[in-house]
Amino acid sequence: MKRNHSAARALACALVLVCALVASASAQQLITPAAAPNDEGYSAKIKEYTTEKYFLTELVDHLPASATVPTTEKVLGYVAGAPNKLTYTKDLYRYYRALADASPRVRVFTAPEKSEEGREQLLIAISDEANLQKLDRYKEITARLADPRRTTDAEAQALIGEGKAMYWASGSIHSPETGSPEMLMEMAYRLAVEDSPFYDAIRKNLIVLITPVLEVDGRDRMVDVYNYRKANPGKNSPGLLYWGKYVAHDNNRDGLGMALALTRNMMKTFLEYHPTILHDLHESVPFLYTSTGTGPYNAWLDPLVVDEWHLLAYHEIEEMTKRGVPGVWTHGFYDGWAPNYMFYVANGHNSIGRFYETFGNGGADTMDRTVTQQAQRDWFRPNPPQPRVKWSMRNNVNMQQSAILLAMHFVAENKDRFLNNFYIKSKRSVAKAANEGPAAYVVPGDTPRPVEAAEMVNLLRLMGVEVQRATGEFTAKLPVAETRAARGGGEQGEGGAREGQGAATRTPAPMTERKFPAGSYIIRMDQPYSRMADMLLDTQYYNVNDPRPYDDTGWTLGALRNVETVRVTSKDVLGVPMEMLKEDARVRGRLTGRGAAYVVNNNTDNTLATLRFRLKDVKLSVAEDAFKVGTQSFNAGSYIIKAEGNPGDLRDRLEAAVTDLGLNAVAADAVPAVKTHDVGLPRIAILHTWQNTQNEGWFRVEFDKLQVPYSYISDHDIRDTPALRAKYDVIIFPPVGGSAQAIVNGIPLRGDPIPWQQSTVTPNMGNSPDTTADMRGGMGLAGVANLQRFVQEGGLFVAVQNTARVPLDYGITTGVTIADARQLQAAGSVYNATFSDRKSPIAYGYGETLPIYFNQAPLFQVAPPPGAGGGGGGAGQRPSGRGSLTDPDIVQAMPQAGPPPQRPPARPGEEQLTDEQRLQLGPFYTPPAERPRVVLRFARDERNLLVSGMLAGGQELANRPAIVDVPVGRGHVVLFANNPMWRHETQGSFFLLFNAALNFDHLDAGRDAAPAQPRPSADEDQQ
Ligand SMILES: [Zn+2]
Repeated sequence: MKRNHSAARALACALVLVCALVASASAQQLITPAAAPNDEGYSAKIKEYTTEKYFLTELVDHLPASATVPTTEKVLGYVAGAPNKLTYTKDLYRYYRALADASPRVRVFTAPEKSEEGREQLLIAISDEANLQKLDRYKEITARLADPRRTTDAEAQALIGEGKAMYWASGSIHSPETGSPEMLMEMAYRLAVEDSPFYDAIRKNLIVLITPVLEVDGRDRMVDVYNYRKANPGKNSPGLLYWGKYVAHDNNRDGLGMALALTRNMMKTFLEYHPTILHDLHESVPFLYTSTGTGPYNAWLDPLVVDEWHLLAYHEIEEMTKRGVPGVWTHGFYDGWAPNYMFYVANGHNSIGRFYETFGNGGADTMDRTVTQQAQRDWFRPNPPQPRVKWSMRNNVNMQQSAILLAMHFVAENKDRFLNNFYIKSKRSVAKAANEGPAAYVVPGDTPRPVEAAEMVNLLRLMGVEVQRATGEFTAKLPVAETRAARGGGEQGEGGAREGQGAATRTPAPMTERKFPAGSYIIRMDQPYSRMADMLLDTQYYNVNDPRPYDDTGWTLGALRNVETVRVTSKDVLGVPMEMLKEDARVRGRLTGRGAAYVVNNNTDNTLATLRFRLKDVKLSVAEDAFKVGTQSFNAGSYIIKAEGNPGDLRDRLEAAVTDLGLNAVAADAVPAVKTHDVGLPRIAILHTWQNTQNEGWFRVEFDKLQVPYSYISDHDIRDTPALRAKYDVIIFPPVGGSAQAIVNGIPLRGDPIPWQQSTVTPNMGNSPDTTADMRGGMGLAGVANLQRFVQEGGLFVAVQNTARVPLDYGITTGVTIADARQLQAAGSVYNATFSDRKSPIAYGYGETLPIYFNQAPLFQVAPPPGAGGGGGGAGQRPSGRGSLTDPDIVQAMPQAGPPPQRPPARPGEEQLTDEQRLQLGPFYTPPAERPRVVLRFARDERNLLVSGMLAGGQELANRPAIVDVPVGRGHVVLFANNPMWRHETQGSFFLLFNAALNFDHLDAGRDAAPAQPRPSADEDQQ
């Protein structure tokens, strides 16, 4: 391959360009091409791989030649976007390092953390050589603009003049979206090599940052999958089952939890550079969607950033449309509401987060594609994609690269404007406490869950939010309504979180005062990243008449983590004596005294689960009721560890463990006189299918973090293991979509085996959490039978959300069904729930109520036994006749019968039957001990349901069972309507699952002692 060129070829190239220009609107508005020679071979291939001229622009229809700086063709052997070529991360990195070695305009850095599988994530910086030499100075400038508390307006203006905007492009967070890593290599080359006023402006005014691949583990597996497909034409090939170690597409929903290395890398890098723009490159809809969203937009952002989204999007649309490129549009596609996307490391921090969706083929094949919906012209899409198109990887590369270069140029030309906007947004974030409010959030220092409270403020600190601690007791003024709403709901019978907020004119709310102890965390809203903190801790209201939500609508972190978070509007709180946390909050637990037994309160701090497994050889029991040691109260479910019968070094080891885990243990002179049962070390399995691993990965994240051991098994293990009970005590089946049939049957057994394992063409698959020689087939009926036997022999099977369909529809359980929603609109939100059976071990350690994450389904109904008459008491119980609803019917012309016998009030899950009815039911009569036990219910009153998010048709959800414990043989099936381990956000619900697992062989505890109470409502089973 030669990079020499002839004058004739240059002329031919120029003519092609002119032809392209003639076809479009106006030549003057387009970019003057470089005077320098082109790499003719490379340029010819660009044209060859592009299916239509109108998918090229003058920016990407050629590649400038360089005598010193290598192209991808030189280093890797192919042109970026070449058919049949996807590049592994190691080769991407090899290219960038070669580029940096050859060009003083390119530098390579390494992100702070390696991926979960140990891969590097690179960060590339490209600018003028002089700018790169002063990179630290430019980082200092953006840092000072980011924090107006230490920068005056005059200083800021000088800094803006001196500073550079930073434009950060990130590739392939979504592994099947394969084009951006290829495109970014070529763009980096162009930015380093091409000399023209267009590129000079970019290099002079911008520092371009590139993250070549975000999901590095998933990228390499995707290249494996693609290469397998190419090596096995005509055969079934695997879909990309595993992306990262834990989650797939949801790696772009980690912006709230930051559980994944890739998100933390982006956050830490942001806080180091304060880039002006973070631009995430995605692929889905044709041909190029540039983000603005449909709204409702996130209500905590400075409106200026919303304007900037539109400004940038419409600039690209105009420039691309000018060039005759079809199908570049905005609006539509997603809403702009939830802050759980990766690019909130920018949007949530006063910078601009944006993304593209370009058309991707999922690999590097050229193919004919049909465009359906997006081919329609619409008000927001006057220039739609064509309905039928031959599409290539190169087309995708051209679209992404042309548009993002145009955006970079626009920002370069307007860098003072964007830097100034950044400064304005930062200033207004600091002014928030005094302006729109609130003044602060307070996490009370006497929170019952100190470990989770510390985890929550540490998450905020990871996001760059400053957290303070009160140095003494203080009092804060609170509106009466706020004291209730801010608790993350849960206060049944009091006003809901929305109370009064719809009023057109606001009258000052009545105020009350509340004392907070020393050590309370205070998150001030007069700091640069107040908006991020506010959007995480506040409550959300999503109007059901808004466009359909794209993702979750509510996420209030305090509620989901079951950590009380108080919104304080009174500015007095800012004057409270406090000091800044200089490092992460860490709760040091302690053990006091020495005695016959040690007691650890069950406060549902999640490290309690860690403690049980850390003290493997220690015998431990839990209290079935609340009790006291001296004056100290302990919840049901508290650990009681006797000195007798345990290792001699028990006290030392317990002390070390509780100190480390932030738990408090107390010695008791005598073993507390409370009913207990032993808690061993349950052998837990987390079950995945070979169809989808998205949701179960979030469960593995938590078990790994908390060091709770588990076996990771597939539905094939269930199918092939008749004696499951010999291996496991607890099998947890996290959510998988589809019908019970679809889950049980798995990938159809047609065609060839589909391996997911290491081979010469798939070298990265062996690292996957699980491997198989054939992904086809699910657990099958054999697996259902094995599961049934497992439960009957004393195992606990936990099904969450949709996987509940398997035990329900296949009849492992009876007495529970799933109702269809008719009116309910409850997309990914936080709802109040109440423990309806606090004696159940699943409720151990919890208060009366708990806010939970629920997403539309399932709606459980626990059927009364046949003949129980729906619980009685409602209208329609008597025929039309004399008197009132409650009067007995009087039949004429006969002696009147006496009233029917009074039945005692039913216990939860125990309906009232007369002896006569029991006889009639025969074998269908379910004795109370075998009936489903409703442990947690959604709030009884529809008006109290919603904490955060959306709700319509709430009467279908109100009072519904959220957790049902169904006895089956000697074991149990526990059904969750809520997801207790969702996206590292629902820490407050984890212990529901841990309680169930730890007490798997004593789940019937407290059943007999359930307090008598009337059935909550008669209509439960008629919805
Ligand atoms: Zn994507």
